[in-house]
Amino acid sequence: MIYESLRKELRSKKYRMTAQREIVLKIFAESGEKHLGAEDVYRRLIEKRYRISKATVYRTVELLSKLGFLRRLEFGEGVYRYELATPDSETLHQHIICKTCGEIIEIDEKTVKDLVKSVEAKTGYLLNDYDIKFYGLCPRCQSRRNINMENRM
Ligand SMILES: [Zn+2]
Ligand SMILES: [Zn+2]
Repeated sequence: MIYESLRKELRSKKYRMTAQREIVLKIFAESGEKHLGAEDVYRRLIEKRYRISKATVYRTVELLSKLGFLRRLEFGEGVYRYELATPDSETLHQHIICKTCGEIIEIDEKTVKDLVKSVEAKTGYLLNDYDIKFYGLCPRCQSRRNINMENRM
């Protein structure tokens, strides 16, 4: 279980497994929504009536990402977002971000692998790390934009 390995990892690094650390990780494990910012985590904890300070939440997500339990993501919003880290770093998925509504979806592994393979073939490089982000307009925002344009005519 993820909490067991967190406990072990914290102990080996001389950190204590606190209720706060466990509950923050739980928010990620149980929330269907991924890519949470520290602010989102804080809001969810408050909704669940946990007493925790915002500073503690910020510190905790940072620590959990340093220990490799969370993957820290940056989408140029001026804040970091986090998601549960997968044990196999090779299978890291990548993201598409809607420039209008901020929705973030994931690009499946196969697409990413195909892309990496084709870049390797073209450049002769052996790629062992990558960070790919696509920015655009999600289908919902596209149709919203089309509706606006129709209304204007
Ligand atoms: Zn959108
Ligand atoms: Zn993701």
